[in-house]
Amino acid sequence: MTDIRNDVTASFAATFGQEPTGLWSAPGRVNLIGEHTDYNEGFVLPLAIDRRTIVALALRDDRVMRVASAFADELVELDLAELTTDVLHGWSAYPLGVVWALGEFGADLSAVPGFDIYIDSDVPVGAGLSSSAALESAVAVALNDVWQLGLDKQALARVGQRAENEAVGAPTGIMDQSASMLGREDSAVFLDCRSLDAEVIDLGFDRAGLDLVIIDTGVSHSHSTGGYADRRASCELGARTMEVPSLRYLGVDDLDRARELLDDVTFRRVRHIVTENQRVLDTVRTLREQGAAAIGDLLDASHVSMRNDFEISIPELDLAVETAQMNGAVGARMTGGGFGGAAIALVPRDAVSRIQVAIDGAFAEHGYSQPDVFSVRASDGARRDR
Ligand code: ADP
Ligand code: MG
Repeated sequence: MTDIRNDVTASFAATFGQEPTGLWSAPGRVNLIGEHTDYNEGFVLPLAIDRRTIVALALRDDRVMRVASAFADELVELDLAELTTDVLHGWSAYPLGVVWALGEFGADLSAVPGFDIYIDSDVPVGAGLSSSAALESAVAVALNDVWQLGLDKQALARVGQRAENEAVGAPTGIMDQSASMLGREDSAVFLDCRSLDAEVIDLGFDRAGLDLVIIDTGVSHSHSTGGYADRRASCELGARTMEVPSLRYLGVDDLDRARELLDDVTFRRVRHIVTENQRVLDTVRTLREQGAAAIGDLLDASHVSMRNDFEISIPELDLAVETAQMNGAVGARMTGGGFGGAAIALVPRDAVSRIQVAIDGAFAEHGYSQPDVFSVRASDGARRDR
């Protein structure tokens, strides 16, 4: 972390020929439980991780915006007067899209000065840890400060989502940005995707001696592939047939009736969402009443539901989950949209290396490429660092 902060300051100076005014950062996130529930107006329980995207920034005395990133060769330059979503493309659509979205949330973009921004990050890109939300949140919190906009963290989360939806063109929910903005050390963000109410929940992983291990299969997934759209369509069909505005309005007591009214596939999709919402509520209650070591069965059940009912797992994810479970994990599940990406395992600290070795061995035995296995800690959300 310290290294990146020094690097980004040096890179800013090398790129723009002066020192930055300040450094701001925002974390990536991982979802502990509550998968595909966001667009069904349900519950999710993500946490901010100790991998961050850092933004070094200095205001300019003209109206020019310049953005550079350690991840990109080109420096992108645009006058504030020319900013529309139509002119944005590529990676710079994330930071400059945030500028546009701040305008949609009341910032007077005809009155603010331009800026130079340099971006660096240790959030893996495209691994399902939301490097995109980390970038949006870091830029949003920085500009909110230097332009003195006075937006609160929940509003800034919506700014990031708006940028991603309309400037980048990715139809994502509010989960990633909420976790990245609102996260807290050893805590998760309990989010109601209908009311957008957010509550910080104590995880107590540290107290319980538990590590959250990420197993990144390296199998790439994409929201644009058919699977994601197809699952959304099934959920919409299920809600329509059950005559509710969204699946959030159904509880486990409604599942008998759902089974009568829906075809088998749609029923199983609906059952995943309805039971997953319940598992998020149960996880929050269990964390409060019994502590982190007691949530393992809920994590395991979530994985079974995604594998059998929602059918979004892949053999690599199933192997990662099973191997973790067999080698001492308290619980494990795939996380993220599915069809690739990562699994998480909640692991007693002294079993982490055994699980890592077991997973490496199991993947080799199956001829799968080696996964990236690492622990993350629940961390603070977007902030000014310097
Ligand atoms: P994820 O959010 O799961 O990491 P996404 O596809 O949603 O994956 O977002 C990744 C994209 O976000 C990258 O392709 C890039 O355009 C942009 N991005 C993320 N981090 C950075 C960064 N540090 N510098 C420049 N662009 C970034
Ligand atoms: Mg993303």
